[in-house]
This record gives sequence, C-alpha cells and structure tokens, in this order.
Amino acid sequence: MTSPRGSYFIKTWGCQMNAQDEQKMASLLQAEGYAPATSARNADVILLNTCSVREKSAEKLFDFLGRLKKLKTKSPQAVIGVTGCVAQQEGEAVIKRASHVDLVMGPRRIGRLPELLNQARARSVAPRSATVDTALNDLSAIFWDGGRGVRSGATAYLTIMEGCNMGCTFCIVPRTRGREVHRAFGEIVAEARRRVDQGILELELLGQTVNAYRDGRQSFHHLLEAVAIIPGLKRLRFTSSHPAFFTPNTAAVMAAHETICPHLHLPVQSGSDAVLKAMRRGYGIAEYFRRLDDLRQRIPGVAISTDLIVGFPGETEQDFRATLDVLSQARFSQVYAFKYSPRPGTTAATTCDDDVPDSLKRSRLARLFALQEEISLEENQKLVGRALPVLLSGPSRQDADVASGRTPCNRVVNVHGARPEQDMGRIMMTRITAAHRHSLSAEPSV
Ligand code: SF4
Repeated sequence: MTSPRGSYFIKTWGCQMNAQDEQKMASLLQAEGYAPATSARNADVILLNTCSVREKSAEKLFDFLGRLKKLKTKSPQAVIGVTGCVAQQEGEAVIKRASHVDLVMGPRRIGRLPELLNQARARSVAPRSATVDTALNDLSAIFWDGGRGVRSGATAYLTIMEGCNMGCTFCIVPRTRGREVHRAFGEIVAEARRRVDQGILELELLGQTVNAYRDGRQSFHHLLEAVAIIPGLKRLRFTSSHPAFFTPNTAAVMAAHETICPHLHLPVQSGSDAVLKAMRRGYGIAEYFRRLDDLRQRIPGVAISTDLIVGFPGETEQDFRATLDVLSQARFSQVYAFKYSPRPGTTAATTCDDDVPDSLKRSRLARLFALQEEISLEENQKLVGRALPVLLSGPSRQDADVASGRTPCNRVVNVHGARPEQDMGRIMMTRITAAHRHSLSAEPSV
C-alpha cells in the first residue's frame, strides 16, 4: 500500500496494555496519512514498542535494533523509534547503546506521536540528532482511544486506568508507567457503548491493577456492572486484577451478569507467605484462597488463571513446594510462570541477592509446568462433550484451515468445520470433542 506520508511498521512486545498502545499509535499514524507496511524492511517509520518486565524483552529490543542498523545506513531517512516501558526506563541510554535510533518516547507521550515523529524525521538526516520524550506528568492523551482499538474482528480493549500505586519489589511498572490515573466513569461507559454500536461483541477492560479503579464514589464493581448491561454487548472481560482489591462486590457483580465472562486472571506470584511478604504483594495465601473460594461458590466452574515467579531471592525448597501446593489446590486453568530476573531500578534488584542459582530456577520452573500441564489437561477433559459458545478470532496456529477462538472461560478452542476467514468475529455454538493441555478441539453444534 502506498501513501503520501509513507508507511509504518510497529513491533510490540509484552502485555495487553502494550498491544493497545500499538493500536493507538497505528490509529494516530493512519490519521496522519501513513499506511501500514508488511515488514520493517519496507517501512518509512519503524516503531519498537517495548516491555521491560522481563530481562529477555529488553534483550530482544537491542537484538532487533542491531538488525535495523544496516537498514538505517541504506535508508537514512527511515525513522527508527523506541516506545513503551524500555523507552521510559532507559531514555537517552537507548541512544547511547543504539545511535541509529531517532526517537525515544515513553508510554504517556503517545498522544504526541505525530508531532514527535515530525521532529524526529526532520532530525533523522545529517547532521542528525535524536528526539527523546519520556515525561510522565502530561496526562492529556493517556486515555485517547485511537479509533476502535480493535484486537480482532469483534473484540476490543478499553483502558480504564493507567499506572500502578503498588510497590511490588520485583516490578518496574510503577516507574515506567507512573502512578495510577483513572479515566472518568461516564467517559468509559460512553466509549463502551460506542464500541458496541460499532459491532464489537466482546470488550476487555484494561489496567495494570484494573480492579483498583475508582472515580469519586464509584468503584470497579460499579463500572463493571454499568458496562455489563450495555445492550448488544455479548462478553465482558477485565485484566489484570490484583488479589488485594478483589472484593466480594466484584464477585457478586460477576455472578449476576451473564455478559461477564466466567474467567478471572488473578496473579498469585508465589505460594509462600514469606516470599509474598518479600515481594510486598499486600496479601497472604489464606486471603488469596478466601477470594477464590468466594468466587467459586458464586460461579461454579469459573476459570482462574494466574502469574507466578519462580526463584525469587531467598526462595527455599519449602517455599517452592508451597507454590506447587497452591497449584494443586487452586487448579488454575492456565499459569504464566517465569524465572525471577532482577530488573534494574526495582527494590528487589537493589536490596536482595539474586541467590537462587539459575539451574535451580530452571528445574523448579520445569517441575511447576509439569504439574500444571497435568492439571490443565484434567480441567480441560471435564469440558469434553459440553456445548460451549466460541467467539472465533481467525485461523488456528497449527492449521490455517481450522478456525480458532475462545470460550467464555477463556480457553482456546480449534473448531474443525468452521471457516477461519468467513466465520471470524462470530459467536458459534460448538461441541467440545477433545481436550489437550493448552487447547480444546470442537465441532460446530446444531
Ligand atoms: S501490582 Fe505489582 S506487579 Fe502489578 S504492576 Fe503494580 S507493582 Fe507491578
């Protein structure tokens, strides 16, 4: 596709907040007359939208930048930009390490992208200099939604809050995204209505600690309910919840509205109270289970997924076994687990020794995954023979001729017999025919 302004390519790493930031940047660039390019090689503007939560993501950025060096030599007018959390955290240091970068922009500056890009373009040829903007205090464009923010045909993200006021010792997010800022209640509901009127079937409310949302006397559960009752909305999700803010009121609203999907992502991070304390998570395991049990009583069969860190400083074999016990007891539908790695600028990195050897972290992670895979398979097997609605989002990863989508409980289903292109964006009633560790197979049911 050609366009008067040129073309853009955005590569995104990390969480859904980053995925939504990509949508915002793409909408802003299209409004300025840029067209999407299929690869970095044929783009006039290349934006690398980064994540700094794990060490590997920053490494991936600099690997990618290394590969772009030749391209910049060949086409000096191409603008290379780094956005997202690594940009926020490293600022000028990105330029020191990769001098061919033209623009470094923090996540709170996205609304200024067109202006910063013009500046960077003007400075991208000799005598060149880079544009760096990582201010955290300008909130003017933070909740700008950039068009529909569509993730797939019928699903959209909606950011309701940004930043985080918690101080988990392993996490860099409060530094890179700043303190919490909450979008106005009425604005969110109006935006949700607009999206549904545009044909969106599934909305996902986003925030780093989404359930810490407040606007005056309105709390998260008020907002959840106000969005859940929008006529025409079929599915409502939210992520990521923090266990300390997951209230019985939220559980009650989830149980009361069919539109709210029976799935909760509730990061536990560790099964050991001692480790949770060292992480400064603000809850203990007994409290975590109280919240889970309350929700399960209200919504039988609700799926719970979680995040876990293995090998946090000081984690003993006993602490790790407590984590395995939590897996056995909680029977999560899905677990996202990582080895601890110290992130520069976090409390844990500056005050704790990274004293669990890497080989031990690896073996603990392998033990954890082995147990969870058994649990996931057993939980998936319980669904075989059931009739479940699947919102189809495109072809399956393994077979482009098979359509894939998600159940309300957020399980991936490959529907044999549905058409990947034509049925995309449709909610199809299916019958589950087989269970696997990470997905289900199904056929359309009549
Ligand atoms: S709650 Fe903790 S882990 Fe989550 S974003 Fe905030 S500081 Fe990071």
